[in-house]
Amino acid sequence: MKALVYNGPHDVSVSDVPDARIERPNDVLVRITATNICGSDLHMYEGRTDFEQGRVFGHENVGKVVEVGDGVDKVAVGDMVSAPFNVSCGHCQNCEHGLTNYCLAANVAGMAGGAYGFADMGGWVGGQAELLRIPWGDFQCLRLPEDAAEKQNDYVMLSDIFPTGWHAVEMSGLKPGETIVIYGGGPVGLMAALSASVKGAAKVMIVDRHPDRLRLAEQIGAIAIDDSKVDPVEQVTEHTKGVGADRGAECVGYQAHDPQGNEDNADTLNKLVASVRFTGGIGTVGVFIPQDPGGPDELSQQGKARFDFGNFWFKGQQMGCGQAPVKRYNRHLRDLIAADKATPSWIVSHNLPLEKAPDAYKHFDAREDGWTKVVLNPAQAA
Ligand SMILES: [Zn+2]
Ligand SMILES: [Zn+2]
Repeated sequence: MKALVYNGPHDVSVSDVPDARIERPNDVLVRITATNICGSDLHMYEGRTDFEQGRVFGHENVGKVVEVGDGVDKVAVGDMVSAPFNVSCGHCQNCEHGLTNYCLAANVAGMAGGAYGFADMGGWVGGQAELLRIPWGDFQCLRLPEDAAEKQNDYVMLSDIFPTGWHAVEMSGLKPGETIVIYGGGPVGLMAALSASVKGAAKVMIVDRHPDRLRLAEQIGAIAIDDSKVDPVEQVTEHTKGVGADRGAECVGYQAHDPQGNEDNADTLNKLVASVRFTGGIGTVGVFIPQDPGGPDELSQQGKARFDFGNFWFKGQQMGCGQAPVKRYNRHLRDLIAADKATPSWIVSHNLPLEKAPDAYKHFDAREDGWTKVVLNPAQAA
């Protein structure tokens, strides 16, 4: 089958790889109809992880079931399904408690959490390909309704970014009527803004410096704050009567940098601590990693950060962090889409065939204006 293969930093190609196939009785095999390029793919694309050469990216996947193993009961050939980016078994101690983001059976011994096409997440083959093997298929596959094809650009957000944005807001502790500031207006930050609106936030503020992202934020009623022009902490303070936002969300991750381009993995975290009120909450879903050999200084190379713990402690804030347990949310978010209560596809800028993926990576990695979210459609002719 054709798949998007990582050859090394800034080098991907569409190449022939062995077909994905049923390997165990509970596997489901899908033909991929939509698969997104994600901001977290870019950490790997840039060579800032230990993602191995020759592997296939792609963890935001929708497909049509073409074959099921003998042990699969619920999912049938012909179903359109969304696969959570978390590969999870459903019956380990963590999965039993709903913590499918830290499944104990989907990674090597001693590591928790699996994902398709991701560094250090169990080696699962990604879905930026014609076919994808979904293990533990009955547990993993979320079946999509009749309008699956028509709303595919919405449903494809259920694998990762919509639940991840939702999780950031959930971890922040947002209650209806409260205010929230989101650092990072990329796809996850925009999903956090959408989630906060659906959850009844009185005011959603979003900090970024890319005009296309800020425009998208404004389209759903968020207040766009351009940190290349103004001090975001001052702006948030002004918008909240001097108190600070009730809640905050970190949607950038360890490659955060200031508007001048200086990389500092604590930049957004420290601005969040400063922007959020005393006793407020922060949800951190941007990716951070234990070692970062490509980091700009020794501290960041060791996965450490100059986090303003003094101010965080002094203000009595709380913070939740880590990858989202997609299955906790994806069923209900699917139903919000089906009922036209949420339309996450508003951020999609491109639908492209798989052949165009290498070019799309270049544009998306450069944060070129107008490349806000790329959906690949491998079944579509080039
Ligand atoms: Zn993703
Ligand atoms: Zn598990």
